[in-house]
Amino acid sequence: MNRPVAVVGAGSLGLGTAWHLASLGHPVTIYDPRLTQRVSRTRSSTELNGTTASLGVLMGHVFRRSSGRGWRLRKRSMELWPLWINRLQRFVPELALQTPLLQVAGDEATGIRLNGLASQRQQLGLKSLSPAELDAIWPRAEHGGLRSEQDGRVDPLKLQQSLRRALEEHQVTQVAEPVDTLERHRSGWRVVRTGGQRDDFAAVVICAALASSALLAPLDHDRPMTPVLGQALRLELKEAPINWQQWPAVLVDQGVNLIPDGPNQLLLGATVEPGSEAAEDPLALMRSLHGKAPDWLKSATVVEHWSGLRARPVERPAPLLEQLEPGLLLASGHYRNGVLLLPASAEWIAAELNHNLPITGA
Ligand SMILES: Cc1cc2nc3c(=O)[nH]c(=O)nc-3n(C[C@H](O)[C@H](O)[C@H](O)COP(=O)(O)OP(=O)(O)OC[C@H]3O[C@@H](n4cnc5c(N)ncnc54)[C@H](O)[C@@H]3O)c2cc1C
Repeated sequence: MNRPVAVVGAGSLGLGTAWHLASLGHPVTIYDPRLTQRVSRTRSSTELNGTTASLGVLMGHVFRRSSGRGWRLRKRSMELWPLWINRLQRFVPELALQTPLLQVAGDEATGIRLNGLASQRQQLGLKSLSPAELDAIWPRAEHGGLRSEQDGRVDPLKLQQSLRRALEEHQVTQVAEPVDTLERHRSGWRVVRTGGQRDDFAAVVICAALASSALLAPLDHDRPMTPVLGQALRLELKEAPINWQQWPAVLVDQGVNLIPDGPNQLLLGATVEPGSEAAEDPLALMRSLHGKAPDWLKSATVVEHWSGLRARPVERPAPLLEQLEPGLLLASGHYRNGVLLLPASAEWIAAELNHNLPITGA
């Protein structure tokens, strides 16, 4: 008999986990009221989930640490991304792994650190860049920077679109209704929808970002998370920078990502603002690159402005990847790197499930 699994939430984590589990043969049901909505940023920005609001930047190999869970998840995700994109392109051919990523050093100490990172990780495609090498693209980089061949970006809208189609292929049941509560039921788990309907599963994976805490509290699992708002912009450039063609997929300066996205269009983001209210000051600082924006950037017109919330775990490191009880798994609280860490997170969840819950059982 097949052992069914429920996934709560259909942002990047929920969709990717559901797809990975279904690919391995698990019968999967995914819940999210947003499943009836098109994946797009055109609706009011307060309605965007974290993934739709995100920029999809993958800063895996440029991570400053070289050990620990954070580094392992990053490294593994960077190995898996090309394979994931390869399989998902069938559903949305424009989905691509856009590379490379250029990180600009803001001061001398950072320049030295990035230089050291480049020499340690040459085999991962890192190379340090001198100010002269950056001059044609970003003449302000007086302390040099780092080029990472495999880091870059995945468009989060195309990613979600392709995952949704992949779920259809695997006959994953999609329920466009919020989950109200989760209950222990016999040797498995009961999902109670807001409409009152009850569905029984052998296991449930919670991928509901900030809403995960409220689902876990009645089960006596305390996993508080706090919102951290991010604002992002799409700019239309009046004059293009001199060497626009040579630009990387992502240029990072002072923590701000500059992403060419279509003719004369540039994405800029994102602010990091504690709480859930968008403020003007951080947006203005980002827009002006802390007063260092080149003229062509200053003269650009804002054609899109949106915001979204990140889920930051309280007093625990991000992300929250845990088996809380047999068959109750949490994949949430990815904070700033939910797109980057998706493949390794989904793989971790599947390994935990397969350990405790063979795909088929008596
Ligand atoms: C402006 C901004 C820029 C970002 N840029 C990047 C970036 O460049 N790179 C990167 O890796 N990360 C980035 N992030 C972070 C990234 O977006 C998140 O880490 C990631 O999207 C989290 O994915 P998720 O699936 O956990 O959450 P979400 O995408 O928020 O999805 C959670 C889903 O759960 C659903 N849900 C909630 N409650 C229930 C319920 N009771 N029942 C059913 N469903 C429910 C919601 O409807 C929602 O669709 C950015 C975030 C923001 C806000």
